[in-house]
Amino acid sequence: MIKLKSYGLILLVMSLVGLLFACGYSEERERREREERWKKIFAEQEEIFKRLTPQEHLAKMKEIKNNRQARERHFNAIPKGTLEHEEALKFLEEENHKKRIEWARKMQNDMLDIGINFEAWTKGKNDTILVYKYLHLTPVRIHRIEKNFRQQDMREIGFKKVILMDGLRREYILWEEEDDYKRRCERCGAIVDIRTCYSQEKLISFGTLKAPVTEYYCDTCKSILSKLGEGAGDVPSHK
Ligand SMILES: [Zn+2]
Repeated sequence: MIKLKSYGLILLVMSLVGLLFACGYSEERERREREERWKKIFAEQEEIFKRLTPQEHLAKMKEIKNNRQARERHFNAIPKGTLEHEEALKFLEEENHKKRIEWARKMQNDMLDIGINFEAWTKGKNDTILVYKYLHLTPVRIHRIEKNFRQQDMREIGFKKVILMDGLRREYILWEEEDDYKRRCERCGAIVDIRTCYSQEKLISFGTLKAPVTEYYCDTCKSILSKLGEGAGDVPSHK
């Protein structure tokens, strides 16, 4: 009788283990099938994307509202130099133009909501200049604004300049896109435009660490230095 009981127990345990294996197996198979299905859907989507004409990419781009990545993908698929590319650019600029005006309006409301005497408006051709007017513009406030200023968001919607103004309508330039490209010549200190001037990388030591820095030179200094037979960057500015 005892023996029979233990046989029963062994059988029970064995069938439980078998069941668990079977479950695990079918789960694994289901997972693989799901993966295959997704791969197939993805490949089909890719095929459809590849077959779209520039006009269709343009239409899709206009349709998509909240998925920036998907939008950019359609935009990038439109060949440059086509009418569709031109229209896409125009469409994006019109949209950004609205966003810039909306930015000023929202900023003003938000500031008034928290009790700050503040006005904001856009100006210039296509509203690319933003003016923030504070009734009381103290050095502390300017410092705080500068610290929290996020130019990337503004750049993305096409702002080129941000001006702070006080109650007496005195102006202070907070940020100007052009400034991002301005540096001083390493040798003479003249202002150069980093998009067009000569530059070279140089390694600078910080203790045991070496870090690459870019040095910029004006045309005059560059030609003087190359006549002397020295690389422009071989002559430090303080010499
Ligand atoms: Zn120079």
